[in-house]
Amino acid sequence: MKRRGFLVILSGPSSAGKNTLLSAIKGRVPGMLYSISVTTRKPRPGERHGVDYFFLDDAEFTRLRDSGGLLEWAEYCGHYYGTPREFVEDSLAAGHIVITDIDIQGARQIRTAMPEAVAVFLMPPSLEELQKRIVARGTDSEAAIKERMKRAVDEMKYVVDYDYWILNTDLDQAVTDLLAIITAERQRVERTEFP
Ligand code: 5GP
Repeated sequence: MKRRGFLVILSGPSSAGKNTLLSAIKGRVPGMLYSISVTTRKPRPGERHGVDYFFLDDAEFTRLRDSGGLLEWAEYCGHYYGTPREFVEDSLAAGHIVITDIDIQGARQIRTAMPEAVAVFLMPPSLEELQKRIVARGTDSEAAIKERMKRAVDEMKYVVDYDYWILNTDLDQAVTDLLAIITAERQRVERTEFP
């Protein structure tokens, strides 16, 4: 039996808890790989190049994008973000599940190019809680916090474009939900080649 690889897109407002959720499922799905995005945003304290993101300057980002090196890209709150094409395509071709954290615009581009991708929307427990988390992170200016909150409110309505949603009130429950989604998708007959 041979399994076909597939892409899992995880979207949701800034500080909905995507990174925490992704860290929590690390190693829990055999053969699942993480796509590391490129960004022109400056690293936050503790973030590492090649682990959290590939941190590029504007010229490097533009060069990569214009040479077709990105599967999708978007501008988010004044910075560029994109998904390196080669890693995702090679990993899928090798039969891996690949998971990626991308915003709504990027998710839309990927779903047009790869309709078989599985799109999951992570919802924060409430907008108040979301604001608390963004403020607690302590890395965004007041203007940036305002912009991220405004963006979050706008983004929530796009949940209807996704295949699944997860409410991130309790991390353990969110982990259980995401693992259930990935497991069910992996067992789809259409993703398996039977002898
Ligand atoms: P942050 O600056 O908080 O790390 O990320 C801001 C937003 O950019 C988040 O919504 C995140 O999902 C999104 N993002 C991260 N990587 C990518 C990417 O490769 N492509 C797109 N389109 N969005 C991304």
